[in-house]
Amino acid sequence: MSAQEQVPEHVHEHAVKAMLREAGVPVPRGIVLPAGAEDFGAAGELAEPLVLKAFGPGLVHKSEAGAVVLGLRAAELPGAAARMRERVPHLAGFLVEEQAAAGVELIVGLVRDPAFGPVLLTGLGGVWAETLRDTALRLCPVPEPDVRRMLASLRAAPLLAGSRGRPPVDLAALVKLLLAVGGPGGLWERLELGEFELNPVIATPDGVTAVDARHLPA
Ligand code: ADP
Ligand code: MG
Repeated sequence: MSAQEQVPEHVHEHAVKAMLREAGVPVPRGIVLPAGAEDFGAAGELAEPLVLKAFGPGLVHKSEAGAVVLGLRAAELPGAAARMRERVPHLAGFLVEEQAAAGVELIVGLVRDPAFGPVLLTGLGGVWAETLRDTALRLCPVPEPDVRRMLASLRAAPLLAGSRGRPPVDLAALVKLLLAVGGPGGLWERLELGEFELNPVIATPDGVTAVDARHLPA
């Protein structure tokens, strides 16, 4: 078995994102370039700034591996990819996607608890997720009022509501995303999807985008 065969195609970030998009979860527009078939010209249809990410076996924490570069113009992609290939020797390919505007970074997860069953998780994401451990959990399906309560219970709630002159994030879009994952008829019902984690979901006054999506091994 080659290194690449050890990771089934469906667990790669772009495949998880395709599944999310189908379920109504906003993800960045992007293209997949398998190693050896890198047509960076195809990125011309994406809006700059662009993000270049590598995918491949064992690439779990991409930033730490030097496998994420933000803020690129299309013309910079081939050079950035060549440098990334040196840092990440076994990459299976590249994902090029549109860079979402900065906002509040949240984590959204679907956990399957052996005793309680599917659980929706949300909280403060990005670099602060592990330091502050600000999360809320509810059993699926989570009705809309409870999704709103989950968000209100976070210590990060004031960041979502807007403070110190910053406008509130698009709460309706955030609630819709959480319902698509853990609400009635949500992705939690699809057992074959297992567990997954979106970290971060970036929330701005104009909407929400799941910019990272990771399938968790069973
Ligand atoms: P990993 O968590 O594996 O290190 P991510 O895909 O989460 O890699 O990327 C690292 C960080 O880069 C994210 O936390 C986010 O801040 C930023 N980022 C990644 N993709 C995008 C994107 N499409 N738009 C905006 N920011 C992004
Ligand atoms: Mg991430």
